[in-house]
Amino acid sequence: MGDPPGRVLRARRVVPVSTPPIDDGAVEVRGGVVAWVGRWKDWRGVGLRVEDLGESILMPGLVNAHCHLDYTSLAGQIAPTRAFPDWIKGILAAKSALSDAEFEASWKEGARQLVATGTTTVANIESLPHLAAGLRAGTPLRVHSFVEMTGVRSQRDPAELVAGAMAHVEGWRASGGRGDAGLSPHAPYSTLPALLDEVRRAAGRSGCRVTMHVAESREEFEMFMYRRGAMHEWLQQQRPDDDCGVGSPVQLVARHGLTGPAFLAVHVNYLWDDDARLLGESGSHVVHCPRSHAYFKHQRFPASELAQAGVRACLGTDSLASTRPTGGGAPPVLSMFDEMAAFMAHDSTVSAAEVLAMATVRGAAAMGLSDGTGTVAAGAPADFCVIPDDGSAADVHEVIVRHAGYVSETWIAGVREASRA
Ligand SMILES: [Zn+2]
Repeated sequence: MGDPPGRVLRARRVVPVSTPPIDDGAVEVRGGVVAWVGRWKDWRGVGLRVEDLGESILMPGLVNAHCHLDYTSLAGQIAPTRAFPDWIKGILAAKSALSDAEFEASWKEGARQLVATGTTTVANIESLPHLAAGLRAGTPLRVHSFVEMTGVRSQRDPAELVAGAMAHVEGWRASGGRGDAGLSPHAPYSTLPALLDEVRRAAGRSGCRVTMHVAESREEFEMFMYRRGAMHEWLQQQRPDDDCGVGSPVQLVARHGLTGPAFLAVHVNYLWDDDARLLGESGSHVVHCPRSHAYFKHQRFPASELAQAGVRACLGTDSLASTRPTGGGAPPVLSMFDEMAAFMAHDSTVSAAEVLAMATVRGAAAMGLSDGTGTVAAGAPADFCVIPDDGSAADVHEVIVRHAGYVSETWIAGVREASRA
């Protein structure tokens, strides 16, 4: 398949994110990348097809820095629980009842929802990586595939687990499709210290990124800080607890040498005094999932503490297994627009422009993408989403964070991949 034809997209407003919004803007696309961005009246090309998107905002495709596509069919299946370990037990039971075919259908539906809601790049946690490899060709989405590893219940040899995961990483990279691959030790409580050391060594050798759920729940925090609580009680027969009672979950990942610019810590809701500084000084990234956070009713996300420590948090959807129905009771869909709205609803100190950055450039930075992903700029991938703009708001970012439902169009690598028309 050759490159898509060059073309020019004109819109009432173009929001490049990396530069100020442009009224009556135009974007020239060639070979799947952006060739030029500016005001329509300044465009001087010839011989290219021009598409006028009309009363619309053209903006970068969104970057979802944490997702579990294969749990999409679990939307509404697991009720929120008082204690976090009970929810973990619930999802383990729900997962064990799913067939490979159901997992595949769920992954595909999740990918479809993301594209339909304007996400073009996703960091996906693969619980069944052998299935994901076959599903990748069926979606235009740029899937960065992170192999999930646990190993506490299975008692599998950590070196063997990581070797198997690295085979997926190398296969994903070698196949030449869109997106990179990396490792995802599930969480401090669901892994053994030896696994985290193996992950650090393997990631260092291959240069892949590592992402992990860290300090998600109060029970996890209590387990590692104080060697007590519901999670400690649940797991003390299943894993050694000599890493409990010695420090916070963030301190634990730092002790294993996982923190650093290639590390994406997901959730990070429960911090000890020095944890924000540990993350900031190491250059680690934090992924906040606002709707999952609300589902579990965690304590306030420490956005300002992290920001003061130099951590630039980004956003992810997590999975629909931990997302409540929308306001009208309709089933939730995977949508970064819904995550932006949820974050705005819970943090009045943050601006709409900053929330958009969290859903675009900051996610791209967390995923190590320095090619302009998350912006509309010359040389960047031609990944866009388009939403209606009735012109009612002077601040275009306010229109963006208020958008709900599917987008008008999604473009990936210069190709229109979803359209409501
Ligand atoms: Zn997750």
